[in-house]
Amino acid sequence: MGKIKILSEDLVSLISAGEVIENPSSIVKELIENSLDAGTDMIDISIEEGGIDKIVVSDNGTGISRDDCEVCLQRHSTSKISKKEDINAISTYGFRGEALASIATVADVRITTQTNEEDVGTLIISRVGESPKISDSSRPIGTTIEVTELFKKVPVRRKHLASPKVEGQRIHEVVMKHAVIRTDVGFRLTRDEKVVIDCPPTQSAIDRITYLWGSDVAKGLVEVYYSEAGVWIEGFTAMPPVSRGNRSREYFAVLKRPITDEHLSQAVESAYSTLLMKGQYPVFALDIAMNLTDVDVNIHPTKREVKIIDIEKVSSIVSMAVRDALGVERQPIESQSLEEFLDENILSREDPGISSRLVQTDHIGTLPAVEHTILEPFMGISDAVKPVNLLGGLFRIVGQIHKLYILLEDEEGLLVIDQHAAHERVLYDELRKGINEDRVAIQEMLEPFVLSLNPTEVERILDHSDILNEIGFSIESFGGNEISISTVPEIFGKVASEIELISLLDSIGTIGISDARDSFMDELVKLTACHSAYREGQTLNIDEIRDLIEDLSRTRIKYTCCHGRPSIVRIKKENLDKAVGRLGHDAIQRFKKRHRLK
Ligand code: ADP
Ligand code: MG
Repeated sequence: MGKIKILSEDLVSLISAGEVIENPSSIVKELIENSLDAGTDMIDISIEEGGIDKIVVSDNGTGISRDDCEVCLQRHSTSKISKKEDINAISTYGFRGEALASIATVADVRITTQTNEEDVGTLIISRVGESPKISDSSRPIGTTIEVTELFKKVPVRRKHLASPKVEGQRIHEVVMKHAVIRTDVGFRLTRDEKVVIDCPPTQSAIDRITYLWGSDVAKGLVEVYYSEAGVWIEGFTAMPPVSRGNRSREYFAVLKRPITDEHLSQAVESAYSTLLMKGQYPVFALDIAMNLTDVDVNIHPTKREVKIIDIEKVSSIVSMAVRDALGVERQPIESQSLEEFLDENILSREDPGISSRLVQTDHIGTLPAVEHTILEPFMGISDAVKPVNLLGGLFRIVGQIHKLYILLEDEEGLLVIDQHAAHERVLYDELRKGINEDRVAIQEMLEPFVLSLNPTEVERILDHSDILNEIGFSIESFGGNEISISTVPEIFGKVASEIELISLLDSIGTIGISDARDSFMDELVKLTACHSAYREGQTLNIDEIRDLIEDLSRTRIKYTCCHGRPSIVRIKKENLDKAVGRLGHDAIQRFKKRHRLK
């Protein structure tokens, strides 16, 4: 006998339902979309235990007629399309007629509904594996769908659900994403009897986003309003320094359907270009409208996202829309790294000298002290600018250039110090020392800072709250997807910027989960140092420069930041001389020519 069997229809539906219904948040997404399709202007969602125990979604939409109630739980039952051509012009969220059927194969479903054409409403009670029972009921016009006993017949799937907290936060995100875009509809979300989102219908877009993202973020938002070649882009994007450490506040919708798309994300990120530092991500909510024929809604069932057909074109329009809103030039700015510049212009490759050794991390420790003669007082420099000690020599502080580099001069040439990298090194050493000696200096916040993050981030942060505490951050759950921070390490407190704090906490998500405690801690210390350090763009006064150089001179490894990037580059005067033709072969040739020597 062969091994291959034809699966029963029940089993087939169970398998594919499992694909569509991954977790409670995918149920909430489907139910919200059905309510929106029914023309509601108020959706009330309430969940228990992250939706694992119970999900209830109520709306004041059209309701479902008795006849339709007979079939709405069957597969491929939909009121939204009837012929093939309809698929190309779909304007509703759903059309496959699969969602309710899929939910009913993995959970118990109870629907009460009332249309305005019928006097009596309908109650459907559907239990997994049994045929649904239909009876009379009454309620105001609209529909309430209650989902319980999720995955009771598929324990494996139930076991694979995340914690109620995380599942609840995923639902929170789903509701937020719809609520940001559909400002014409009210949304209320209640988690375990606590109302966590409550937006009235017909709120202005900016009021809605301020309510959902908080006024600190909203203050930085600029409006995006742009159209080109049949593509319309509308929404908001945040001016730096408002940013996040990950993509959790990159909201896209196509024709008001929330989607995620790598191309589009990159397009917006590239529009920000150098406005954001590496590791920082923009904050925005953009709705992209285009002709229905330019999108494909009929894609893979599990994705259930629309797909833009000409994504290259739309991405570049999105990028222009954001540049336009930010006031960024369209021309890319040409940049050349300092190392390339030095390589090409100053350092001779045959003679590596001290200059290139300083930028090479593998020479740390064996680096020779800069040879030095006693410094003569510099011309025109007042006594106020005392020379500083670094690398075993004395240097005059020339100053800061480009609000990023500190220039020091000695007789042999210049030292160029990256203020961020150098400060990061200093703070890293200081914090590590504090941790080793168990006396990290902390600073209390005037009042606890409350921040809402996405589900996985919250879990990650709370899971590591003991390590964070050792470093100086006291963090507690504030309920839902919010955390509260009551102390920060003192080195961080000096920066005291909420933006840096948000960005730091976001970045915790980028540390590998599997990292052992020690390396996780080290990564956190690095992140903290990085977020506490002077930034490019910060003007430093002479005292700050002096303090920084003195602190730097006491660190063990001065030549790189804690991420291994060079922090000091040496430019020898000799190489400058060569570069301008004062020294070397060219100069000798010119000298000979001038003096008619052979
Ligand atoms: P689809 O949305 O793809 O049509 P669903 O399984 O999600 O399929 O829903 C099946 C049908 O049930 C819908 O086409 C619609 O007619 C009806 N329906 C579901 N939810 C609602 C609701 N909240 N209000 C009115 N009708 C609804
Ligand atoms: Mg649907």
